[in-house]
Amino acid sequence: MKTVDAIAAELEGYDPFALSVSTVNAFLSKLVEPVADEESVTLVQALGRVLSQDLISPINVPPHDNSAMDGYAFDGAQLSAQAPLNLKVVGTAFAGKAWQGVARSGECVKIMTGAIMPTGLNTVVPQEFVTRSPDFHDMAVVIPKGLLQTGDNRRKLGEDLIQGQPALRKGQLLTPAAVGLLASLGIEQVSVWRKLRVAYFSTGDEILSLGEAPREGAVYDSNRYTVMGLLMRLGCEVIDLGVVRDQPALLEAAFMRAAGVADAIITSGGVSVGEADYTRTMMKKLGDVAFWKIAMRPGRPMAVGRILKNKSVSSDAAVLFGLPGNPVAVMVTFLAFVRPALLQMMGSTATPAPLLQARSLTPLRKKPGRTEYQRGIVATLSDGALGVKVIGNQGSGVLSSMVQANGLIVLHHAQGDVAAGDQVAVMMFDSVI
Ligand code: AMP
Ligand code: MG
Repeated sequence: MKTVDAIAAELEGYDPFALSVSTVNAFLSKLVEPVADEESVTLVQALGRVLSQDLISPINVPPHDNSAMDGYAFDGAQLSAQAPLNLKVVGTAFAGKAWQGVARSGECVKIMTGAIMPTGLNTVVPQEFVTRSPDFHDMAVVIPKGLLQTGDNRRKLGEDLIQGQPALRKGQLLTPAAVGLLASLGIEQVSVWRKLRVAYFSTGDEILSLGEAPREGAVYDSNRYTVMGLLMRLGCEVIDLGVVRDQPALLEAAFMRAAGVADAIITSGGVSVGEADYTRTMMKKLGDVAFWKIAMRPGRPMAVGRILKNKSVSSDAAVLFGLPGNPVAVMVTFLAFVRPALLQMMGSTATPAPLLQARSLTPLRKKPGRTEYQRGIVATLSDGALGVKVIGNQGSGVLSSMVQANGLIVLHHAQGDVAAGDQVAVMMFDSVI
């Protein structure tokens, strides 16, 4: 396990007092490791979990060639570009059981969607395209010329999944679609990585827990609820350690308790340079921690590293994310750094949702040399393109604009001022929260 200094030494442009957002992410991807324990869960419990083994398909899906339409099945070799095809209907194939008869040349079988293709037949004409023919006492259909090719409207055996081949790979995040796919294979139980355990506590003598009486200079602890919400949406097991007063013994006890039970520890507050508190001192004492000023807004100060579970065993440690105190800075640093790092720890190999491009409806001031996140409302414009406008007070403590916003405008490190009408990147909350 590499020390924080060793990881920093591998990174180009590592400057703890002016770290770029991309360097922070590069650092974190080297710091964290996926959990190693697996467990078996039922499909109902599997949503949001991450597969710990390749899943080999036990069957072919679909298990037979079958019809994609309600219509008439026939042998496509009889099709001709020159003339319509006149076929006698010799039976009906229903979904759920095989039609037992034999259709010869000049014959077809009425077939329902999903029904097994009768032996020797490979093409289906949808019922709306045929006309009845007076031949054979109305028991015949006419297929217009030039409409179909052999194989049309037939689903092939194994066209979705092939028996013996991986249907899903290790590291797959189990979305509703993935869970449905597992069910289509008849699988009831899957191996997943165990849930990530994440401990959280807020720091600061001015922070009130809910239920405490308001007092001068004090604010209620909102960070605990935003962070716990973000963690629950990620499917982590949350260990809530409340608010910890700014006293060395209490902080030490909280860190040791957290490190003892969790894979990762998240704290808020007390990481800015020059804070008159013990949080930084205690992080340094109990672990291997770097203190950064990140070139971003909001969310400048952050502490990252490991807290040792046992002071004599340096390899056994919980990852530490010491987030700033300001409520919006907490959410932005979580989305920018903590979320991708936790997904890596959860064993997920999913590529992050791409940022969208939207037209900025107003000019935006932006200083090159830092990444800025602005709360915005993204909407579809009358010409069909996406537009975004900044919403509300952008102060790093203002949660109301965070509630109103449906995404963050991400103004990249090197970017300067934005003119009205320019394209900007946006991170939609729906894709991440
Ligand atoms: P700090 O990073 O400790 O300097 O805190 C920066 C600002 O965030 C201060 O105004 C704090 O009062 C506020 N703050 C810190 N922790 C919390 C919290 N858990 N909930 C709400 N606000 C907080
Ligand atoms: Mg503080």
